[in-house]
Amino acid sequence: MIPAQEALQRLRDGNARYVSDARDGADATGARRRIELAAQQFPFAIILGCSDSRVPAEIVFGQGLGDLFVIRVAGNIVAPSQIGSVEFAAERYGTRLVVVLGHSSCGAIIATLEELGRNSREQSPNLRSIVNRVRPSVQPLLSTSLANDPDVLLKHAVRANIRMSADHLRHGSELLEQLIQNTGLLIVGAEYNLETGVVEFFDGLDD
Ligand SMILES: [Zn+2]
Repeated sequence: MIPAQEALQRLRDGNARYVSDARDGADATGARRRIELAAQQFPFAIILGCSDSRVPAEIVFGQGLGDLFVIRVAGNIVAPSQIGSVEFAAERYGTRLVVVLGHSSCGAIIATLEELGRNSREQSPNLRSIVNRVRPSVQPLLSTSLANDPDVLLKHAVRANIRMSADHLRHGSELLEQLIQNTGLLIVGAEYNLETGVVEFFDGLDD
């Protein structure tokens, strides 16, 4: 079992390798590693990330097969099946770090802001279910001065949504609450920058 802080350092190091283009994935994704892992896995971190094609968790964190248990959904929202997936991995594999990974210019956040501004087209009920989960974190920002600048508003909305998802995971599951209290499970929020490739951990850390 890898403690949360050690797992976090691995992700920071992996992201630094990715940003500096120093990655070497041959060992991490090769046939030998695949065969080693066929019978069992011990992922050291759980990532709840956005489905955006530009933010594949394994790549931006410089990791290979068997390293990360990844849940991806547009807008990195938290619905019961996402909580269940986190519970499953944390309990079964002893994984002690959960990262909610949002990103700059997230389309799900943009769609939510458009809907709140009533510029949106009719959404399907399924897409609406995503927007509805983003909205509570974003809506309060509209009554602040942030609403005057669309770019600033979007930046704050992305982070507000990440914070809300991380909080939802911390408090929306009895099992996860117990793991936090008793085993050191850590749930943090992070934002990936589409231009620089840097992942900034900004929520849920003491330091
Ligand atoms: Zn996104």
